Amino acid sequence: MKKCDLIIIPLLLLLVASSCSKENEVLEQEPVAENVEQTSLEITDEVISVFKENYYNVSDISVADFMLPDGTLESRYQLEGDIFFSAEQFENLSQLDISTSKNYHTTNLVSPRTLTIIGYTGGSNALSTKEQTALQYAVNNYNALNLSINFTLTFGTDYQDKDMVIYHNPNESGAGGSAGFPSNGDPHQLIQIYGLENYDVNVIEHVITHEMGHSVGFRHTDWFSRQSCGQNVNEGTAGVGAIPIPGTPESYDSTSIMLACFSSGEDGEFNSNDIIALNYLY
Ligand SMILES: [Zn+2]
Repeated sequence: MKKCDLIIIPLLLLLVASSCSKENEVLEQEPVAENVEQTSLEITDEVISVFKENYYNVSDISVADFMLPDGTLESRYQLEGDIFFSAEQFENLSQLDISTSKNYHTTNLVSPRTLTIIGYTGGSNALSTKEQTALQYAVNNYNALNLSINFTLTFGTDYQDKDMVIYHNPNESGAGGSAGFPSNGDPHQLIQIYGLENYDVNVIEHVITHEMGHSVGFRHTDWFSRQSCGQNVNEGTAGVGAIPIPGTPESYDSTSIMLACFSSGEDGEFNSNDIIALNYLY
């Protein structure tokens, strides 16, 4: 989702930059650096070529301190705005056979079944009441379609054995969410949302539904242009990782829930093409 990157902005520009990035006021609560696992990832030529071979846009790749639900930090690759890869997930990606595959979805899908999903309620990573309602709406979006995957939702802190956990990240600037893609037939487990406290519940529903979409294998429907972000950045080449799903538009689909960026007017619902795509895959 929409993110602003302050990392290499010179001091003089900071004032300007802060206008696009809701600076958060809770910096003093930020876990200190010793929480970071010391297996720091590196962006080598080999890493870049693995992502490129899998049709990811590496133009904004970075290594970020990714916050787990319990507040600890872990080094992960971040790219295409809201997509994270752990070291293990990257390893899986590098071993994928990319000679088979399809669509505006990833090379990996989730094995059909009932998935467990939990809304995290612990400490500073807890979902607010409004966010919990939005999560219920997002789960309802999927369950209403009678797909080969559906979700059972609970709330609490016991997330380790759940297929997905949705939690709040108080340290992230801007507003949006993050996720990753499935591996080994399992959905991406960790879904963060942040900076959404002042948005309508339908917008939060949109963000969670979007991130759940990544977690079951959907890429951005505007991967070719990121037009929804006001950019013209191609996220990758058509081919293995991003061939259109039959019956859905190949051009810009202005109401798809899988657009890269969102606005404050989102209604949180799938459009008809999103539903065609979900029924095609699941
Ligand atoms: Zn996204």
